[in-house]
Amino acid sequence: MEKIKILVVEDEVPIQELLQFNLKRKNYRVKVVDSGEAALEVVESYMPKLILLDVMLPGADGLEVCKRVKSSRQTKHIPIIMLTALSEEADIVAGLELGADDYVTKPFSPCVLLARVKAALRRIQQPENSDDSIISIHTIMIDIFRHKVTVDEQEITLTSTEFKVLQLMTGQPGRVFTRYQIVDAVRGEDYPVTDRSVDVQIVGLRKKLGDAGRFIETVRGIGYRFKEME
Ligand code: CA
Repeated sequence: MEKIKILVVEDEVPIQELLQFNLKRKNYRVKVVDSGEAALEVVESYMPKLILLDVMLPGADGLEVCKRVKSSRQTKHIPIIMLTALSEEADIVAGLELGADDYVTKPFSPCVLLARVKAALRRIQQPENSDDSIISIHTIMIDIFRHKVTVDEQEITLTSTEFKVLQLMTGQPGRVFTRYQIVDAVRGEDYPVTDRSVDVQIVGLRKKLGDAGRFIETVRGIGYRFKEME
């Protein structure tokens, strides 16, 4: 079987080596470049299945690379996992809104990183199921056409905004959504949605989901994610 190709964009040698070692150990094929310009130069010819992208790069930074990769028809399907410092919350949010699929903060454990890589690759294999008529996850069942949600087979009543938020998040479990992305997905219905009201929606949604409310995880400073199934 052909190895899955991963492009690593990172300028720090020790991190390059750490990534290369761990990815190769898991049988991925790895190409390392150390600048944004180099990444943009090789991405179309190498056509990786996934990109690990450092945000702080000399020259064109990770956000610029993310924007360019996600705005090209040839490459926008490639999942991007950003590598950032914990303090770069604004960059993380910006990157997610530019289309990055996930992020890992430095210093990271190889286990966590490999799990995120696997999850991102899994999501492209089974593309978002938000178009399916039924989403079934953990104890929750969502019937998109009938606008019906059950938790442990008990029907619960959601507002149309809550329903949309739940549908968005359960459509791509494990993916972090920023508040803006959530607003964007539900805007135009009911009433204008602001950042703050996203938080209010989430509180309401968690409450109605009862025990299953814990599957909506808060990602501090960034947004929310729906817990993946093991
Ligand atoms: Ca760097």
